[in-house]
This record gives sequence, structure tokens and C-alpha cells, in this order.
Amino acid sequence: MSIIAFIGVGNMGGGMAANLAKAGHEVRAFDLSEAAVARAVSHGCSAATSARAAASGADAIITMLPAGTHVLAAYQDALFAAAGPDTVLIDCSTIDVATARQVNELAAQKSLKMVDAPVSGGTGAADGGTLTFMVGGPDAAFAAAEPILAKMGKAVIHAGAAGMGQAAKICNNMILGATMVATAEAFVLAEKLGLDAQTFYDISSKASGQSWSMTTNCPVPGPVPTSPANRDYQGGFITALMLKDLKLALAAATQAGASVPMGAQAEALFQLFANNGGGGLDFSAIIRLLRG
Ligand code: NAD
Repeated sequence: MSIIAFIGVGNMGGGMAANLAKAGHEVRAFDLSEAAVARAVSHGCSAATSARAAASGADAIITMLPAGTHVLAAYQDALFAAAGPDTVLIDCSTIDVATARQVNELAAQKSLKMVDAPVSGGTGAADGGTLTFMVGGPDAAFAAAEPILAKMGKAVIHAGAAGMGQAAKICNNMILGATMVATAEAFVLAEKLGLDAQTFYDISSKASGQSWSMTTNCPVPGPVPTSPANRDYQGGFITALMLKDLKLALAAATQAGASVPMGAQAEALFQLFANNGGGGLDFSAIIRLLRG
């Protein structure tokens, strides 16, 4: 059993912390939201009064925070100082590659082991312990983090050096955003041509148009009964978070000098949809914008 400080027990972190507690770890939860901490406590965690209190004497520190600014501040203001020489630092938030590298570099300067370990999978996967972790950092840090991450996920993959977990995450989600737009516009065209949605699905899902956006998160109700389209696009992976990841991908592309025209087009469309009130809906609701 390890002592684990969990900073940020919101929609994702709450379920993840609960799975660590269920696995027998002592999990100290800290969040700016009292309601989030209360939920973690109801799932077997203990409440910490501050990030520093949670992290003091912990074997591992996990952060699951909104953005790079929160992560950098949390480590600089409290967590680096509270970490012991053998503590492993694990940032599971989705943040920009540059900040991930910066925080990892600051940890290395203090001889602390750190990984960036963003996740694929939404709140259902966080609650169910079936996340996929994409991990960047030195081998020794990965080795220390891997057994802890394994209690929260179905796959833990070492992507390379510091920042490569974030790189894998945003590249993956750039594909996801673009394929969802392409899939949704194909369903709209099929409708307008008089091709039945179920018939189109039966063909394309077995042909070269197949993707996760079609066979798991199908943007029209019917063909995939579990897709958010069947519940009026509630739940799932909300447009605002897809937009966040696409913006991170575009920023990284600008810095790296990469040309990403499909990613840029997807970002523009999801931004337009969010501006029109779609930010809280599953990202497959982009089909509403495409219907006009
Ligand atoms: P959330 O807003 O529900 O949770 C973030 C939590 O961090 C909140 O409870 C907030 O109060 C807390 N917080 C903010 N600043 C803090 C600080 N300084 N100290 C302590 N707590 C602080 O967001 P979420 O959906 O859980 O997402 C968390 C991260 O996971 C984000 O980076 C997001 O992009 C990523 N992510 C989310 C999903 C998803 O489907 N929700 C999927 C994959 C990745």
C-alpha cells in the first residue's frame, strides 16, 4: 500500500482517486471544491486541508487539473517542496507540451522523478478504471508511476521523454476531432441524398470509412445505441474539452512548424459550434452545425 496525494478530484480525478482507494492505497484528496473532496471521501479517500498537507510524506503525487497554468502553479507553490526524494510525481492533466516539459525539467533539477501521463477515455473510463495513459518521462520515473497508473487504467504506454505523453494525447485527439467532423458531414450528405442512416452505417462501418467516431461515438441516434446521440448528446466528451485539445494541438503545431490544415478546420468548426451554445454537448453534436 502506498500513500498517494491526489490534487484535483473533479469529474475525472474523482473516479481515478476512488479506484486507487479501492485498490488499497491511502489516498489523500485535495481540491479547491469542497463538493469534489466530499465525493472523494465518500469513495474511501481522506480529505487534505491543502495540497502541501496532502503531499507531505506521500509516495506518489497525482495532479488532475484543468490546464498548464494550474499544474505549474501547483508544483511550484506547494508540491515540489512537499515531495520527498523517492516520491514520484504524476501529472495526468491534459496540458500544453511546453508547460509539461517545463514542469518535468523543474522536477529533474530538484532530482525528483516526474512523468506527464494524460489520459484517453472520459468520466466513464475514469470511474471504471479503464483509462489509457500516455506517459512521457525518464525510464526510472515511468517504472515508479506504472504500477499506480495500472490501478486506474487498462493500458499504460511509455511514449518517450518528458512531454511525449502530452504530444501523443493531442495528436490522437486531433485525429478524433477531424474524423468526427468527417463522419458527421458524411451522415448529413447521406441524409440529403436519401440514403438511410442505418444502411449507410451498416456499409461504411465495414468499409474504409470506419473509425471510432463512427462505430463507438456515432453522431446519429440508432446505429450505436450507447453513443451520446441517443441521449440528445448529453454526457460523453463535451465539445468544450475537444476544443481545448484542438487548441493545444494547433499551438504545438505552430511551435513545431507542422502543417495541420485538417486540425485547424476542425478547431474552427468546434469553436463555431461552441459559440452557438454547443460547448456542453458531446462533440458528436457537431452534426447539428453541419446540418445548418
Ligand atoms: P474538472 O473541472 O471536473 O476537475 C478539475 C478539478 O481541479 C476541479 O474540481 C477544480 O476545483 C480543481 N482545481 C483547480 N485548480 C486547483 C488547484 N490549484 N488545487 C486543487 N484543485 C484544483 O475537470 P476534469 O473533466 O476532471 O478534467 C481534468 C483534466 O483531465 C483536464 O486537463 C481535462 O482536459 C482532462 N481530461 C478530461 C476528460 C473528460 O472527459 N472530462 C477526458 C480526458 C482528459
